[in-house]
Amino acid sequence: MFIWASAFLLGACQPVPSARSISAEAGQVAKTPIERFGQLRVTNGKITGANGAPASLAGPSFFWSNTDWGMARFYNEDAVTYFAQDWKAGIVRAAIAGEQDGSYLDQPDANIARAEAIIEGAIANGIYVVVDWHSHHAEDHAEQAEIFFRHIAGKYGHTPNLIYEIYNEPLDTTDWQSTVKPYAERLIASIREIDPDNLIIVGTQTWSQDVDKAALNPVRGFENIGYALHFYAGSHSAELRQRAEQAIKAGLPIMVTEWGSVGYSGDGDVDRASSEAWMAFVRRHQLSHMIWSVSDKREGAAMLVPGVRSRGGWTSGELTESGRFAREIVRGWEAD
Ligand code: MG
Repeated sequence: MFIWASAFLLGACQPVPSARSISAEAGQVAKTPIERFGQLRVTNGKITGANGAPASLAGPSFFWSNTDWGMARFYNEDAVTYFAQDWKAGIVRAAIAGEQDGSYLDQPDANIARAEAIIEGAIANGIYVVVDWHSHHAEDHAEQAEIFFRHIAGKYGHTPNLIYEIYNEPLDTTDWQSTVKPYAERLIASIREIDPDNLIIVGTQTWSQDVDKAALNPVRGFENIGYALHFYAGSHSAELRQRAEQAIKAGLPIMVTEWGSVGYSGDGDVDRASSEAWMAFVRRHQLSHMIWSVSDKREGAAMLVPGVRSRGGWTSGELTESGRFAREIVRGWEAD
């Protein structure tokens, strides 16, 4: 049984370290996700814990980190603590903007600080953190992406918490063979000079849906490389699951670094039936997944109602319909 955060009630979340690691009921020391799984790796085509056993984790993705887009305020350690304790998240994702105004391209220091706040929060809570280069055009700024990831690798590559995601979502017109894969090989080689082992997730063509192309033509010559599958339950269904299933059967290690219960635009109503079909798929294949997004924007995917405080401790009434649904999924994940 996994009850490391059981002492925390909704809206009453205070950072008391001892309560995170001690089960009051059993009097036993319960383990954090990091203590359970250690540093993630790829074992026989699957993403597993350090011992080679499957590691299936759930948690939220933060929103684009751009300055002045309104959601950078959620990039703080207390918000991560809230998700670790109240949602029992085992993983979070920092979506560090790699394009448009206020991104790393024009504000590198501010965006590094946002990434580091989420990483520090993950380390403090014993959970995993995906550091994502959030761009649809990463090949246009490969040098900046390299500089960013080499900084992160130098500072955190020795921790078991860190997972790199080097390209959020290449477009449908950005060819896997000629563009995405060469970009990935460049970034991976650069990161591996500093960090020889932490998991690196590669985005796939068509908003990280064409995992079949990656399965036919994967990156070779490096260890612990996984691939991103993204889906939006309001838009994507059985056809994409079949494609993913074939890639998994072909031995492609997959991580669902972003999905939503709404439409692919990030807006629309929660599609519970489709989300549940997707979660059954994710669970059956023992994948990890992160839900979009930690945001109070007025759109369906936003987990928070407009105007909430920035540093966690949100009550049920401060979560949107998709936020409450996400919390239910994440809180139930480890217990099953
Ligand atoms: Mg390392």
